[in-house]
Amino acid sequence: MIRVVCPGSFDPVTNGHLDIISRAAKLHDEVIVGVLRNPSKSSLFTADERVELLREVSKDLPNVAVAKFNGLIVDFCRANEVSAIVKGLRAVTDFDYEMQMAQMNYNQAGVETLFMTTNPLYAFLSSSLVKEFARYGGDVASLVPEPVLHQLTERLARE
Ligand code: ADP
Repeated sequence: MIRVVCPGSFDPVTNGHLDIISRAAKLHDEVIVGVLRNPSKSSLFTADERVELLREVSKDLPNVAVAKFNGLIVDFCRANEVSAIVKGLRAVTDFDYEMQMAQMNYNQAGVETLFMTTNPLYAFLSSSLVKEFARYGGDVASLVPEPVLHQLTERLARE
């Protein structure tokens, strides 16, 4: 049984994330989406809200589960019998950092990292860009799942 983790902040989950999660789910027995709870980093949505949104948008993927984690992803992998970390690679700018991180995780705990190339439709997409555009009235409807669009619009209106 191969269980993998897709880690990230998911503040909020975008169509780019969902694309990687659903493709990973086709290739592995189980996928855990690991939501990083980092109290020192300010986020628009709380960790619980990010988990809720991820559960909602992945509800049709039966082998996908969502869990929070803090600390090292390799510790999460050990505790949950996860064989590999799956990450989406968007551009060369992602590559240097992701490669270093993958090698560190292998060096520290023997945890493998698998890279999936981003869907070109979403190659430019990040949660921060979505938030920035939405904040200034940009149309992000094609970039995030419907429940996220709804929550995002509501949350930004309160700012
Ligand atoms: P971001 O704010 O950049 O979306 P996250 O930490 O939430 O950052 O992203 C988690 C992981 O999801 C990233 O490390 C990357 O592997 C993957 N990812 C994010 N956006 C995309 C995208 N548009 N296409 C493919 N993979 C992505």
